[in-house]
Amino acid sequence: MTKKTIRIIIAAVLAVLLVVVLRLSLKPPVEEQGGPRIVMGTFARVIAVAADSKTAENCIKAAFEQLATVENLMSAYKEDSELTRINNQAHLAPVKVSAPTFEVLQRSVEFSRLTDGAFDVTIGPLVDLWRAAHEANSPPNDWQLRQARDKVGYDKLILDADNLSVKFTVEGMRLDLGGIAKGWAIDRAIKTMQEKGARGGMVDVGGDIRCFGLPPKGKKHWLIGLQDPHEAKDALTVGKPLLVLKLSDAAVATSGGYRRFALIEGKKYSHIIDRKTGTAADSLSSASIITDSATKADALATAVTVLGPQKGLQLIEKIPKTEAILISPPPKYKLTNTTGANTYITQTHR
Ligand code: AMP
Ligand code: MG
Repeated sequence: MTKKTIRIIIAAVLAVLLVVVLRLSLKPPVEEQGGPRIVMGTFARVIAVAADSKTAENCIKAAFEQLATVENLMSAYKEDSELTRINNQAHLAPVKVSAPTFEVLQRSVEFSRLTDGAFDVTIGPLVDLWRAAHEANSPPNDWQLRQARDKVGYDKLILDADNLSVKFTVEGMRLDLGGIAKGWAIDRAIKTMQEKGARGGMVDVGGDIRCFGLPPKGKKHWLIGLQDPHEAKDALTVGKPLLVLKLSDAAVATSGGYRRFALIEGKKYSHIIDRKTGTAADSLSSASIITDSATKADALATAVTVLGPQKGLQLIEKIPKTEAILISPPPKYKLTNTTGANTYITQTHR
């Protein structure tokens, strides 16, 4: 073969490759949806935007697998979860845990410090006390509240990073990851989708949402409806959204007592508890946080519900690239937000 022939062959191969690459890049991406499925006691949905259906479906499958893995490690309701093992044994001796659980606990303590204990992963004894009160239809008395409060406090938790172990310094302590595990699971699911080749995606676990990259066809952004606490009657009847957010690479999490509460002697008690008083946080109907990670959004939404509108907004205004949208309790349902939140709000329905 002459040099000229070789050059012609190389040029032809390159031309064919160029055509293939161009065709692939011009082919519009496809969008696939997964769910809703029940995850962490709520409904989860995943959307993947990818070059082809197979990639999108793989991404959705991997995302749901991640959600299930986190649930299996961190559920307080599963007898065989790592969290249950910690809760049963950590007052006796340090309990070794997996790297993900350890990391969530470290992040939890970070958020406890940042929010001065408004978010506290050791809230378990108070959650249990109020759950028992719900079952008995009788609120706890002062003595019971004091007893439970003495067992709560992130300063009573020892995290040993060298040995990945967890130790309680007080008997009867219990961890509760209900305020952060959803966000953490969403972040893990998003990372997996990116690694598996999704060009865009969204993971929604019970209204805590993160999205990235290419939005669905014909859209410039991911459009996320925020529930109106006034309209929402239960987990399935959500009513029309209060407002629609336009997000690109961001997470939004909403906390509040408007949907999950305990009815005791005819009075509603939110499932979010202020460890300082030992009782349900009731100064906000809902708190939504928009930021770059779902873990952060989740933990801060829970914390702001405890802090209330004034202190909550003050805190969020100080945290870079983080915004809050708050709704006061009935009958007012007054909406307030950080100044930066306006850039995300597209439509309001009231
Ligand atoms: P979220 O819906 O993310 O606000 O989480 C609420 C859940 O977090 C509750 O059902 C409890 O399991 C747990 N929780 C309640 N109060 C607190 C608190 N002050 N700090 C951290 N977690 C909490
Ligand atoms: Mg939360």
